[in-house]
Amino acid sequence: MAIKDDVLARLSAVPGPDGTTPLTASAALSEVVVTGDKVAIAIAVDPARARDLEPMRQAAEAAVRAVPGVGSALVTLTSDREPGAAAPRMPGPRAQAAQTRLPVEGVRHIVAVASGKGGVGKSTTAINLALGLAASGWRVGILDADVYGPSLPRLLNLTQRPGLLPDKRMAPLEAHGLKAMSIGFLVEEDAAVVWRGPMVMSAIRQMLRDVAWGELDVLVVDMPPGTGDAQLTLAQSVALSGAVVVSTPQDLALIDARRGISMFERVGVPILGIVENMSYFVCPSCGTRCDVFGHGGARADAERLGVRFLGEIPLAMAIRETSDAGTPIVAADPAGQHGLAYAALAARVRAALEAAGTAPTPRIVFE
Ligand code: ADP
Repeated sequence: MAIKDDVLARLSAVPGPDGTTPLTASAALSEVVVTGDKVAIAIAVDPARARDLEPMRQAAEAAVRAVPGVGSALVTLTSDREPGAAAPRMPGPRAQAAQTRLPVEGVRHIVAVASGKGGVGKSTTAINLALGLAASGWRVGILDADVYGPSLPRLLNLTQRPGLLPDKRMAPLEAHGLKAMSIGFLVEEDAAVVWRGPMVMSAIRQMLRDVAWGELDVLVVDMPPGTGDAQLTLAQSVALSGAVVVSTPQDLALIDARRGISMFERVGVPILGIVENMSYFVCPSCGTRCDVFGHGGARADAERLGVRFLGEIPLAMAIRETSDAGTPIVAADPAGQHGLAYAALAARVRAALEAAGTAPTPRIVFE
């Protein structure tokens, strides 16, 4: 509580969006979340003025960081004016395409790993895909954009905070040869869950722009699960080379994966393909493979949906255990059968990216 009071006191010295009214007296200050020594703040602004108000954002962040006892500060600009008000309506596809897609300097490809719903193994797939791409010789980063339930701290067993460079950008953490960034490195999980849609994009934008990713062949983005406004905004405002959709066998035949695919298609992001996770079961004691849901259906479904089938990953104890232990299977046992399944997935994703060229190719025509 004491920290929050100090934070508000410092913010009262920072002029708000109109340039005169202190932030604390303006209606723009919509959220101040303090968790331990981490502070996250949202300032609601007119999206058209976001660029002009960047100095204000930086001033607010510097003010918060100067409060004794504050370890890290994250100030985001949101377009959600009224606290608790409904998120602004999304513009139609044409208007969306006219928005600038955010590239990341030095990063050749940005790939989204997405799912139609939570719990299908999206994060597990994203981290092992990233490790597989790194093993293929690429320079790889992973951005955990799942601000509602960041999993990268657990998957990579990273608990330290990213350092601040002299140019004020954050240095990504590193593990198993990957550069890694997650909202979970900056705020506690319980703070992240109170964030509303517009704040999500603002935080992700910052993790793309204010992190020194360096030269990368690919940045793998672990998307928030589902196909709501936050996901759509992310898909339309980041310069994605393509998307990998993760599905379980049951969902492939159902609506969820299709919803994920159509979301990317709506905003002109190429679908690199579908991965079938928890595809079959491998008995940990005898190694026997059981095709619990039958076999071959996923490939047929992918073909029916007109997208590439990137492969199947078994439901295996070793995959969950290694993830929980902070050394995902591709790092723990790259030459084992599961490690090889992810290596094959990575090879297909790499080939799809190389075939598509280096520049993202939005299919929607500007008006
Ligand atoms: P999501 O990101 O879609 O919510 P997670 O990647 O967090 O899903 O996975 C949910 C749970 O399922 C985790 O406990 C994870 O370890 C486990 N899991 C994911 N894929 C597999 C797999 N192929 N085999 C065994 N467990 C898996």
